[in-house]
Amino acid sequence: MSDLEQFRSETRAWLEENCPATMCVPIDGFEDLFMGGRNPEIDHPDQVIWCDRMAARGWTVPHWPKEYGGGGLSKEEVKVLRQEMRRINARNPLESFGISMLGPALLEFGNEEQKQEHLPKIVRGDIRWCQGYSEPGAGSDLASLQTKADDHGDHYIVNGQKVWTSYADKADWIFCLVRTDNSGTKHHGISFVLFDMETPGVTTRPIKLISGSSPFCETFFDDVTVWKKNLMGEEGKGWTIAKYLLTHEREMISAFGSASGKSLGEQAVESMGADSSGRLSNSVLRQNIAQYQLDTRVFAATMSRVGDEAKAGKGLGPASSIFKYYGTELNKRRNELNLAVGGETALGWDGDAYNDGLVSRTWLRSKGNSIEGGTTEVQLNIISKRVLGLPDE
Ligand SMILES: Cc1cc2nc3c(=O)[nH]c(=O)nc-3n(C[C@H](O)[C@H](O)[C@H](O)COP(=O)(O)OP(=O)(O)OC[C@H]3O[C@@H](n4cnc5c(N)ncnc54)[C@H](O)[C@@H]3O)c2cc1C
Repeated sequence: MSDLEQFRSETRAWLEENCPATMCVPIDGFEDLFMGGRNPEIDHPDQVIWCDRMAARGWTVPHWPKEYGGGGLSKEEVKVLRQEMRRINARNPLESFGISMLGPALLEFGNEEQKQEHLPKIVRGDIRWCQGYSEPGAGSDLASLQTKADDHGDHYIVNGQKVWTSYADKADWIFCLVRTDNSGTKHHGISFVLFDMETPGVTTRPIKLISGSSPFCETFFDDVTVWKKNLMGEEGKGWTIAKYLLTHEREMISAFGSASGKSLGEQAVESMGADSSGRLSNSVLRQNIAQYQLDTRVFAATMSRVGDEAKAGKGLGPASSIFKYYGTELNKRRNELNLAVGGETALGWDGDAYNDGLVSRTWLRSKGNSIEGGTTEVQLNIISKRVLGLPDE
């Protein structure tokens, strides 16, 4: 038996013994994800058990180095772990901005003390992070941000406002872009800082979305003290870190385009009926679903190939914009098809008969996919300039 085969058989046995049966069913929308934190939102007690068991092996983030609490697995071993989890439909034990965004940036740009302090807590799900990038006057044009950090020797005093800060009211810490210098071009003088959301002067105000939920907030900073030990990278050079982190964010968002759970085709046959040869009787919908399923497979195969080619742990760089663009468009298409398959029932908003509007609320939420993490138009600009190398004009 090769080492990898041995690893597979041990992993399979361990997963079968340790993954609770309740964690082997598809997630039921965003709210069903386990995101950890000081005051975790727990839908089912097994979420905590599953997360703790996986974290004890470092398998909540299997590719991170062991010295920071990760699993220390090779790329091939991570792939085997994912395959074995898929085999039993095991859920990801922990989803967080710490894992998908801050962690990769910390590994690349953080100092040793910062890595030791924050990475193990991310692996265990002890601390939940939010992202303080966008401001009322700085979205696509992020470098125009104005939140100010004044130098007070061993600390900064931060004043300003962020907006669309996902889960700011639930997060424990924030990674935040602030302006430490206003004298040069807008990309210079931006610094990348980390601070506790319980620091005096931080307030959040939830914003309600069209889907009826309030997953994000306006976030205000009034004379907030941020210690300089929490400055990541060099003062005034945070733009490089900000861009690096965004490529990881876009990779995370592009994964929304990967299908999971029961296929749309199967669902459609169940709810709309089949013709005499077992095919979905509505031929137009059948064709649209088939096209969607083909595109999803091609997307998954391309993601997997490009992921294999990328240097371990480094991410995809600007190519992440291609996946962000295509993955979010696919996810929006899936949600349109979900509505079509569900028919009238899918339009229900409240009550058990409509699963509290899960289909329609998820459809509405999907509209934000092509905005969050940088809009589709901005991704197309990045692809044309930084991937294809086309001239500006
Ligand atoms: C669900 C969701 C979650 C989010 N979570 C967070 C978060 O946690 N933290 C955070 O900091 N931010 C978050 N955001 C904010 C997000 O990053 C911004 O909404 C996004 O970058 C766009 O900025 P804007 O909303 O200011 O739109 P604008 O920048 O004002 O853009 C308006 C329109 O103009 C177009 N446009 C702008 N510039 C160009 C250009 N150069 N070329 C072509 N078209 C252009 C855009 O594509 C868009 O259609 C979230 C957004 C959403 C929808």
